Amino acid sequence: MSADPSATLLVNGEWRAGSGTFEVVDPATTEVIGHAAAATPADARAALDAAWAALPGWRETDAETRGGRLRAAAAAIRERADELAGRLTAENGKPLAEARGEIIGCARMLEWSAEEGRRAYGRVTPPSANGPGLTLLAPVGPVLAITPWNFPASMLVRKVGLALAAGAPVIVKPAEQTPLIATELVRLVNGVGLPPGVLQQLTTPKPAALVAELLVDPRLRKISFTGSTEVGLGLLRATGDRLRRVSLEMGGHSPAIVFADADLEAAARGVVAAKFANAGQSCTAVNRLYVHREVHDELVGRVRELVGGLRLGHGARAGTTVGPLIDLAGLEKVERQVKDAVAKGARVLAGGQRWTPDRAELRGAFYRPTLLADADEGMAVSREETFGPVLPVFAFDDEDAVVDAANRTAYGLAAYVYGENLRRLWRTVERLEFGVIGVNEPAPVRPELPFGGMKNSGQEREGGSEGIEGYLEHKAVAIRI
Ligand code: ADP
Repeated sequence: MSADPSATLLVNGEWRAGSGTFEVVDPATTEVIGHAAAATPADARAALDAAWAALPGWRETDAETRGGRLRAAAAAIRERADELAGRLTAENGKPLAEARGEIIGCARMLEWSAEEGRRAYGRVTPPSANGPGLTLLAPVGPVLAITPWNFPASMLVRKVGLALAAGAPVIVKPAEQTPLIATELVRLVNGVGLPPGVLQQLTTPKPAALVAELLVDPRLRKISFTGSTEVGLGLLRATGDRLRRVSLEMGGHSPAIVFADADLEAAARGVVAAKFANAGQSCTAVNRLYVHREVHDELVGRVRELVGGLRLGHGARAGTTVGPLIDLAGLEKVERQVKDAVAKGARVLAGGQRWTPDRAELRGAFYRPTLLADADEGMAVSREETFGPVLPVFAFDDEDAVVDAANRTAYGLAAYVYGENLRRLWRTVERLEFGVIGVNEPAPVRPELPFGGMKNSGQEREGGSEGIEGYLEHKAVAIRI
């Protein structure tokens, strides 16, 4: 890497500066902690030229060698996990323990991708009257990976690992809030001996213009996007009359259903973990908690106690369990939703307001972990993604009605179910319209399972044996003997 730490563009094997730089801040303090390069349209074109030039060589590199590179990258990430976690916390604000978990998840995802590359088999079909048929798999071609700030490490590595395992060169465009952890990871992965152009990075404070530059070029064969539903749908529309593969992982509005026979302590702990991790800024965060009326008060009491035990602060400080929101706009959205809920009859059992720390340097957007009872469907919080530390609770009596209510959302990413009766759990899982479901499991995202959403939460999957499909084309070869 160039000695200049703000030279965050990796184009054709070289780290370079852009037309200028933009500031990166610590969201807990709002202090400037570094700078990243602003890529120019010429950088974008150069990156696509290099990706196109690198495609034949990388496509023809055997899967074992490609996988070996990814395993080496995973080992490098494990070795430097603490340092990478510190960088992630500095830019994103999440507590160090969560950041470390995300970094280790990156290594696991690279290891999984390395193995999947060797298992991208294709198919031989029985001969027809004329002869045999084959289904061959080929890398999709140059990929643009657009990644978000909320999981800036794992979302990037997930895309890079699968694309590289499949033989497709990838250009990463990280979120403008978190370009430095992206740079560290790209540097590590590229550093294991990837040929120039196979992995590249463009950073920018103005993503729309830069991405538009790439979208007009027919050599860009796939966009893999994780971010807001608005931007994702915009990218889908922007493909216009030139089709290209688009995988989308967008917003969510996850229900958690707690049946009367659930282990209430495990359910309370699971829901609090799945809600307040990353200060609620996860697309899989619980956004609605449905509790059977018989156990409502007891479960809510336990949740309230756990929420009361959460500790706000700087993510790098020992003991912090909830960090800041990414910015003031995120905080204002949370505030608006809570005000609306209270005006419509919700009871605030915990939090319900901004947090003003006694340490003057913590100038970030902190909001107290909030528990709202008596929520109903008329409240904005029950429809709009919150992306903040607010948990509204709904009481329910009837299994059918609660499953219908859980499904009554434009989103379909994650859902959680707690209970013991296997028949009921199974019926519920079958009826929930969500791509990822945790049954007594607050962390249902695993490298071995496909990750992605239904409805307006997205299309295609990342992870599982389905994940690599997103980076492969199918070629049917019919042979006449
Ligand atoms: P959020 O609201 O969570 O910040 P965004 O969808 O705005 O989510 O951001 C997710 C990713 O999409 C980031 O990398 C961001 O830079 C990028 N992005 C934002 N707007 C556009 C756009 N118009 N075209 C392409 N990428 C965009």
